[in-house]
Amino acid sequence: MAVRLVIGLGLTVLTLVLAGWRVDRLYALISSGQPDHSRTADLGARLRTQLTEVFGQRRLLKWTIPGLAHFFTFWGFVILLTVYIEAYGALFNEHFAIPLIGHWAVLGFLQDVIALAVLASIIAFAIMRVRQDPERRQRSSRFYGSHTGGAWLILLMIFNVIWTMFLFRGTAVNAGDFPYLTGAFVSRGVGALLAPLGPGINQPLETAALLAHIGVMLAFLMIVLYSKHLHIFVAPINVAAKRMPKALGPLLPMESRGKPIDFEDPDEDDIFGRGKIEDFTWKGMLDFATCTECGRCQSQCPAWNTGKPLSPKLVIMDLRDHLFAKAPYLLGDQQVPEDMEAIDVLALAASNGHVPESGFGRVPGSGPEQAVRPLVGTAEVGGVIDPDVLWSCTTCGACVEQCPVDIEHVDHIVDMRRYQVMIESEFPSELGTLFRNLENKGNPWGQNQSARMDWAKGLDFEVPQLAEETLPDDVEYLFWIGCAGAFDDNARRTVRAVAELLHRADVNYVVLGDGETCNGDPARRSGNEFLFQMLAQQNVEVLNGIFDGRPPGRRKIVTTCPHCFNTLGREYPQLDGHYEVVHHTQLLNQLVRQGKLTPVASGPAEDGPAVTYHDPCYLGRHNEVYSPPRELVGASGAQLTEMPRHADRSMCCGAGGARMWMEERIGKRVNEDRVDEAIGTQASAIATGCPFCRVMLTDGLTAREAEGTAGKTTEVIDVAQLLLASVKRADPAPPAEAE
Ligand code: SF4
Ligand code: SF4
Repeated sequence: MAVRLVIGLGLTVLTLVLAGWRVDRLYALISSGQPDHSRTADLGARLRTQLTEVFGQRRLLKWTIPGLAHFFTFWGFVILLTVYIEAYGALFNEHFAIPLIGHWAVLGFLQDVIALAVLASIIAFAIMRVRQDPERRQRSSRFYGSHTGGAWLILLMIFNVIWTMFLFRGTAVNAGDFPYLTGAFVSRGVGALLAPLGPGINQPLETAALLAHIGVMLAFLMIVLYSKHLHIFVAPINVAAKRMPKALGPLLPMESRGKPIDFEDPDEDDIFGRGKIEDFTWKGMLDFATCTECGRCQSQCPAWNTGKPLSPKLVIMDLRDHLFAKAPYLLGDQQVPEDMEAIDVLALAASNGHVPESGFGRVPGSGPEQAVRPLVGTAEVGGVIDPDVLWSCTTCGACVEQCPVDIEHVDHIVDMRRYQVMIESEFPSELGTLFRNLENKGNPWGQNQSARMDWAKGLDFEVPQLAEETLPDDVEYLFWIGCAGAFDDNARRTVRAVAELLHRADVNYVVLGDGETCNGDPARRSGNEFLFQMLAQQNVEVLNGIFDGRPPGRRKIVTTCPHCFNTLGREYPQLDGHYEVVHHTQLLNQLVRQGKLTPVASGPAEDGPAVTYHDPCYLGRHNEVYSPPRELVGASGAQLTEMPRHADRSMCCGAGGARMWMEERIGKRVNEDRVDEAIGTQASAIATGCPFCRVMLTDGLTAREAEGTAGKTTEVIDVAQLLLASVKRADPAPPAEAE
């Protein structure tokens, strides 16, 4: 008894001292980040999220098999805590049982069953790791770039927890110390197997198994605290501190040291974006520490899947590894020598043993070079994140949507772009043209404002344009046309169709004409927050004037562009612009349901044309509008044929994040990849609800037609056009001309 008490408690105290030191350093490091005061609001919703995401494992269960394996492993950790309470009790008293519930057969049964489930789960994890072996599958493996050795070690440690548990319990049965008479059927089975060894062996074996069980847990604790499996402890905190409801939709306003930046009169020492790892907030740093390297984000990333160097997983891992390597300088344990010269990256890079897409390995270790290397930079300057990585992102949000621990990749990427654009003036040259057009002409195309109403020419009804300073009382909607609707030929077809449908449904609306300016989305997502603020303030001033005196609920805007929809509806509140913005597919769907529009199918439902629907990222994932456009496709008499990647797992068209305005020089073109998937459905039309998706898909389709891999009969259209065509079927046939 005394031996196991001394060894068990001695090991525990030693481990707790080392663990405490590590936790203290981790806490100091993460709290060295910039303040972020937005993470504690809405405690009720945070509690619910904790219950569903941590205890219910909701996000992990989006992927059924790995989700279930994680579910059982998580609950194994929770339930088997009771076995550790029993183990520590047994150090003091071999007949120990948990007070009140310690002899309850149900608890014994639950402990054994969950241990078996954990065993099955680690077998499943092992099979997944073999099937996804990155050595063999290279970039197509979601574990490519992850630390696979550490993952196998963790599986081994979980296995050690389980077998030592059963050994301890089996020998305890034979030594007469086991608290459960019934229920714990596996432990009793192990006991039966070991019974022939007799009490002389079973009793010392019980002590050895008990110490092994405790020892494994203590070793596991140290491994977790010193490895990427830190997520076991920090994931619940990260989930509790997540952006509510999720880190998609609006971008966060820019803050410096926890205070909003005044763009009209910024402070001299304001921090613009993230130019150094220490510019990230504590939540950003917590994100980095939380990454499980599961690669779900990477497997969904359009950039990664088309051969670009950007993997959201590697971005987070690189930032984490750099943060940890720079920690001694951030915490003041080491100083950068004053005579520090430029980094000799070529000499250092010899030890880069990681994947080529990862920038962290360019400057390994915690030498002073780590502290002075640029956060964003090419291999030549030892950058942690390569510019090609940073500028490949379409901000599609697939990574954020899939991440089981609520890491906020898009915010971090845009924050790094903000520093590059506003402080370093380092950005792809094509963006220079975009910024100039936005600044001088108020639209990305550089067209004259006077041409903003050209889209309405030739319509056989009048498009009402606002003639007064405020909306007349009987007008229900402001129809926001957007720059694409005004200047792009294909997008003009969409706005013409929507205008006609609104006209037919007797919706009282007006348009602004040359009163509109770009909403600022491409400027904001490419990091030019100054320009975004300028454009947004201009629009908010106009819109607040128009809606002056209207109560909430009557400040309605309809738009055909998901980027306008997202920016006007969800970002302008940051500038005191509060409107109810709907996407045209939502409004049209409502009009169909109200019977104000009556689509007519061209024939029996089963003979309708096959139409596939491409989810625009800023309508789908960013704003969760999935059903209305699909319902409209069905209402128009077409048969919806889904692509393999659709709804929240939809694949981006390649235009978001201002990528529309940049050349795509690396890998396969994103739009062609998406069009290939659409062509694969054999649909006669690819419907969408975004002018930018429409441009990208049309370009992709044109390329495939030129190659002969797509038939000339396939077309890209907006859902509104499908609806209009079906509504027009009810029109009376024109009278036959007299001979
Ligand atoms: S937002 Fe989209 S493109 Fe950007 S890293 Fe995430 S998945 Fe990749
Ligand atoms: S960022 Fe999230 S999804 Fe991506 S590897 Fe890390 S934990 Fe997995």
